[in-house]
Amino acid sequence: MNPGWLGPEIARLRAAHAAGRLPHALLIHEAPGAGGEWLAGWAARLVLCANPGETPCERCASCQRVSQGQHPDLIFVRPLEASTQIRIEQVRELGAELALTAHQGGYKVGILSPADGMNRFAANALLKTLEEPPRGTLLILVASQPSRLPATILSRCQRVRVRAPERAEAVAWLEATRGPGDWERVLAVLGTAPMAAAEADPAAVIEVAAEVRRGLEEAVGGGGDPVATAERWAKSELPLRLTCVENWLTERIRGRIGGGTLFTEVRAGAHTRGPGQALDLRQLFGLLDAVRELKSSFDAPINRGLALESLLRSLSARAA
Ligand SMILES: [Zn+2]
Repeated sequence: MNPGWLGPEIARLRAAHAAGRLPHALLIHEAPGAGGEWLAGWAARLVLCANPGETPCERCASCQRVSQGQHPDLIFVRPLEASTQIRIEQVRELGAELALTAHQGGYKVGILSPADGMNRFAANALLKTLEEPPRGTLLILVASQPSRLPATILSRCQRVRVRAPERAEAVAWLEATRGPGDWERVLAVLGTAPMAAAEADPAAVIEVAAEVRRGLEEAVGGGGDPVATAERWAKSELPLRLTCVENWLTERIRGRIGGGTLFTEVRAGAHTRGPGQALDLRQLFGLLDAVRELKSSFDAPINRGLALESLLRSLSARAA
């Protein structure tokens, strides 16, 4: 089932293709988890489909191979294993592959996702391919933070904007594609990121979120064992846990600002808190920065356990 909220972008790409005006490079600027990669796959099927028409047939061998990521004329470039970065060697390989004649005599498609995961060297290497694309090339960059890409790259791509759907539309789509589940709560944790939710185990997401909340409330109350908690969190589902910490901090900041009590103290938990135990807004923002830093530094050789431990300690330090 096509995600309904991508309808306008699908229609535009379809019209451009039908008129022979499909550019050789697209930049899909997506809200995180809103379907940028899905749209890239759809565009790949559109140009590689064995039954050329207004829309990919979704039935031929080409469409199916694209969906399975096994089409010989589609090169998918993602960060390797635990890395968040796309490296220069990967981009050079892509350039070399695209320079070869297509196996099926038509298009060759390269998808880079997340393209904003390219480091400077990788982006420079891609520029060569963007400047002189081999005939019949379609390059698709998927990024949620395209501002991290050099202007020289951005100016050579036609931008396609993918916005997050309304929460209700996302829930309806998840129910239709994945079946019933507590999708409201999953999206409350993951943000309105239906594609990310579709790949998740809803029960596990809800459980991890509840566990992280308990751990944070405990730390704020001066209880718990920061070392053990940090070790446990660093070992499993760390990105999800960091998102949960981010949500928890954001909620507190919002509560503070929305409550009209800006610049006064924040009580992180309703219980076990006395005077002098509260987190002020500046500290909350500081912690939020630290969590975001941790989220974006997966490639850096830092000890995540230690970083988490220090975060939990700075929560409980207030209570000491
Ligand atoms: Zn097809």
